[in-house]
Amino acid sequence: MISGPGKPRTLLKLEPRSRFAVGVHLDPVVDTVVVVDMAGSVVAHEEIAPYGSAPASELIRAVARAVDDIVGDAGIDRDLVLGVGVAAPGPFDPRGGRLLDPPLLPAWHNVNVRDDLGAITGLPVIVEKDVTAAMVGEMWFDGSSVLNDAMFLYYGAGVGLGIAVAGAPVRGRTSNAGGIAHIVVDPLGPMCGCGSRGCLGVSIEPRTLTAEAGYNEPAGDSRAEVDRLVRDAAAGRPETLAVLRRAGERIARALVVANNLLDVDEVVLGGPVWERLAGVLADTVAARVAGDPASTATRAIAVRRSIVGADVAAVGAACLMLDGAFAARPARMMIAL
Ligand SMILES: [Zn+2]
Repeated sequence: MISGPGKPRTLLKLEPRSRFAVGVHLDPVVDTVVVVDMAGSVVAHEEIAPYGSAPASELIRAVARAVDDIVGDAGIDRDLVLGVGVAAPGPFDPRGGRLLDPPLLPAWHNVNVRDDLGAITGLPVIVEKDVTAAMVGEMWFDGSSVLNDAMFLYYGAGVGLGIAVAGAPVRGRTSNAGGIAHIVVDPLGPMCGCGSRGCLGVSIEPRTLTAEAGYNEPAGDSRAEVDRLVRDAAAGRPETLAVLRRAGERIARALVVANNLLDVDEVVLGGPVWERLAGVLADTVAARVAGDPASTATRAIAVRRSIVGADVAAVGAACLMLDGAFAARPARMMIAL
């Protein structure tokens, strides 16, 4: 239909393989590297073991090598790579890009990821707090506008909250927003390093749950600990079931307190530990959120599982790179219909 004077509009559609972005998630347990196309689809995925206590220059070189490898192995022309989005646990310095003293990644103390990785790879680098990247990744893949006002509880080796308000991620003035580890969720819970008892972070840490469930032998890393909890819950071990029920209640209380503050009413749960525990925790969390007397919500709080999955922080970091490309030069990513 022609609605007025002027050249008829040309219809364009996105060419997904016109450009690519790399996403990296620096995590205490496993580093994830993904390549996404312009549609946000993951076209390559790699996991690399963290390098422990190597010097910072070596860590950066290892990440640069992983970026080179995944792009090369996927057969992608390097000229089509827009850049690298890096998701990492904070805190960052106020100008962004530099990791200060991440408690979960001690080897990354004072490393300028943005500048140093950019210098080695020759690619633009964006650095984002992992929980914010996770929120962005989820918004990209959610076709609706439901997540315009939402929060993403990221449950990995640590716990944090990604926040979206009015369709945009909330970063705060120094990109460090989302710290919810010290919300008290269980007055009788374990002691926290901050001096309080029952803070969310310490209360749902895999090794806390393991200790509370009465295991004497460590199972290995946090993934092995969590897998043992899930296995024993499936077998009906009463102590494990009780511990997991309580973990679900603790998570629910944190979500209700955060929702009272933010009034978003849409909750996404994700992250590598959540992905493993969702099957045994999701029902408890949803039921307790709905019935928590502390809630001031005037409509039901929707609780959903991440549709992106365990890679969500890496995928979200890559999507941030795509966002920048769309804003700058959208026409180059389009083909005429
Ligand atoms: Zn605390």
